Amino acid sequence: MKAIVTGHSRGLGAAMTEDLLSRGASVLGLSRSINEDLQSRHPSLLQQVSIDMIDPANLIAWLDSGALAGFLENDEPVMLVNNAGIVEPIGPAGSLDHNGIARAVGLNVTAPLLLADAFIGATSGNADRRVLHVSSGAGRKPYAGWSIYCATKAALDHHAASVAQDKPAGLRISSVAPGVIDTDMQNTIRSTPADRFVLRDDFVALKETGSLTSPEQRGNEMIAHLLADDFGQSPIVDIRDFAA
Ligand code: NAP
Repeated sequence: MKAIVTGHSRGLGAAMTEDLLSRGASVLGLSRSINEDLQSRHPSLLQQVSIDMIDPANLIAWLDSGALAGFLENDEPVMLVNNAGIVEPIGPAGSLDHNGIARAVGLNVTAPLLLADAFIGATSGNADRRVLHVSSGAGRKPYAGWSIYCATKAALDHHAASVAQDKPAGLRISSVAPGVIDTDMQNTIRSTPADRFVLRDDFVALKETGSLTSPEQRGNEMIAHLLADDFGQSPIVDIRDFAA
């Protein structure tokens, strides 16, 4: 079993990578930083690529190098977990940093779509190939202050549903909302000034009441779902409908 995981260096991505490695999968992790801890505990299974995926040119150059196709060669099942994402820019429409908008679309939408297309093309001979987009409830329900984040996650949902219509042989694809998880992203949300994000206090309360799920628990549940027989039966799901 082989898997590519984006945003594997910390948070939910690190937990999903750890789970895959512990099952004996070979994992190729793509993030800006290297996870030394995972590397030291799984030296022969983990390969890491340091890449800033916000700039599509970086990812296109990496894909054109043949590295993805080379990694996937001669094995199955093969998986792509499009996890890397950012929640910023946060704030009311009309007040957002234009570079921030382009950066969010670059990382949250352009990168996963590029990777998914390259993955599907490179694995046409595989009978068991799976793509998991890490989406968000914010892609399905509007939130004030999150117009860009909500739009980027909705794009992933619609991409998964549309790819499923193409029915690529052997491919299962699903866009999975992971629920609220105790990661750096939640720190960013709680650190946003209330005048930029009117729901900030609700997210502070989630932390204070212990309502955030640990990355380890949710990472295990996400990978169990990815490997399950019914993965991809619906192209848009919420992990909380599957988790025990
Ligand atoms: P996180 O703790 O902030 O981790 C984000 C990951 O993305 C890191 O590994 C980071 O690695 C990578 N990343 C960030 N910028 C990057 C860049 N420019 N190029 C390459 N990699 C980059 O976030 P998280 O909470 O684990 O979120 C993971 C996914 O879950 C995201 O798609 C998020 O939208 C989704 N999600 C999270 C929650 C939640 O409550 N946490 C809720 C719903 C959905 P480097 O910094 O090393 O590059």
